[in-house]
Amino acid sequence: VFTQDVVPQAPEDPLFGLMAAFRRDTSPNKVDLGVGAYRDDNAKPWVLPVVKMAEEKLRKDPQLNHEYLPIAGLADFTSAAAKLILGGDSPAIKENRVASFQTISGTGAVHLGALFLAKFYPRTANQPVYFSAPTWVNHHQIFGNVGLPVQTYPYFSSSTKGLDFTGMIKGIEAAPEGSIILLHACAHNPTGVDPTAEQWKEIAAVIRSKNHFPFFDCAYQGFASGDLKRDAWAVQYFIEQGFELVVAQSFAKNFGLYGERTGCFHYVAAPSGAEASSTATRVASQLAILQRSEISNPPAYGARIASAVLNDPALFAEWEGNLRTMSGRIITMRKALRQNLENMGTPGTWNHITDQIGMFSFTGLTESQVMKLREDHIYLTKNGRISMAGLNTKNIEYFSKCVDKAVR
Ligand code: PLP
Repeated sequence: VFTQDVVPQAPEDPLFGLMAAFRRDTSPNKVDLGVGAYRDDNAKPWVLPVVKMAEEKLRKDPQLNHEYLPIAGLADFTSAAAKLILGGDSPAIKENRVASFQTISGTGAVHLGALFLAKFYPRTANQPVYFSAPTWVNHHQIFGNVGLPVQTYPYFSSSTKGLDFTGMIKGIEAAPEGSIILLHACAHNPTGVDPTAEQWKEIAAVIRSKNHFPFFDCAYQGFASGDLKRDAWAVQYFIEQGFELVVAQSFAKNFGLYGERTGCFHYVAAPSGAEASSTATRVASQLAILQRSEISNPPAYGARIASAVLNDPALFAEWEGNLRTMSGRIITMRKALRQNLENMGTPGTWNHITDQIGMFSFTGLTESQVMKLREDHIYLTKNGRISMAGLNTKNIEYFSKCVDKAVR
């Protein structure tokens, strides 16, 4: 049945291809700047000390078993996750207008949201879903898989290597009334470029004026600035403004729980008295059916760890310290890279390296420069994106010199 015509060979995922090429490379100088996971100063994965403490605590719990979680997941986890992203004193939580579902990490949260919107969002004029150009490539696949048409709004300016704010506002304004607008809550992937608070206010205003529906993807809370509250500012501002919205929340990066697939999806109803609470209840009832048919119920282990930390003030404080360690190391690498390039007089401007935030930086390196770097055993994606976490005190000089050579 599945001949070449029916099922053509799919192209290899570019990132996984890059990782395979890195593994095959035997050079002692090799540098992996593709990987979207935190590495310590020795280029090694880092198990957060707070995660070890939480695991220790779990191991000592005689009540623990391997039963199924409820369809919506571990309640102590989802309620703490909601408080974390929406704010502890969020009016949405107080007024019971939030529906939270534990998901298969951030990807599963984006998927559950996309599936729900594909099924229930009243797209009377067949409005598309709008993504920033560029966005995390998986957004295209996830929303495409559920049959929602996709469009983009301008986001990245290749001349300033910062935000094309005018283009973004115009693009969102030009989208047909009632479009779904996907926004990265912080540490935009792949560019590392975030709007300022003042710009977020204007974005909210244009979304409101066009009756658009905001869909926040939040994969880096606390990992971007090191400050959980600051990284959730945009989401909390939109809620303050009374938006009905959804949030996909990942705990992969901020807890280093990549493989444990720990995430959450939140639907927040607009404030409208008792009706808002019943809207959230109805939405939850439909999310439960979608979740049941897709995964039945989510995995327990990562949610137990995150829950242990989120619900214990001492562990929470330890976690905040761990977040500052990760984000601080990355910010230090950004400063060092910019400084090195400026000291060498490397052609071009390099302020964007420190202006950008989070795991990734859009360096502005062209595809041919990326290929030159490959000859020096440096692995990054063809769009010039580097994972800052791949840089450390041992390879930063080498990388800086190779960039200098590649752009001259
Ligand atoms: N959304 C964005 C923008 C991301 O960058 C990522 C991870 O790279 C995710 C969602 C989801 O990641 P995960 O499924 O590992 O939580």
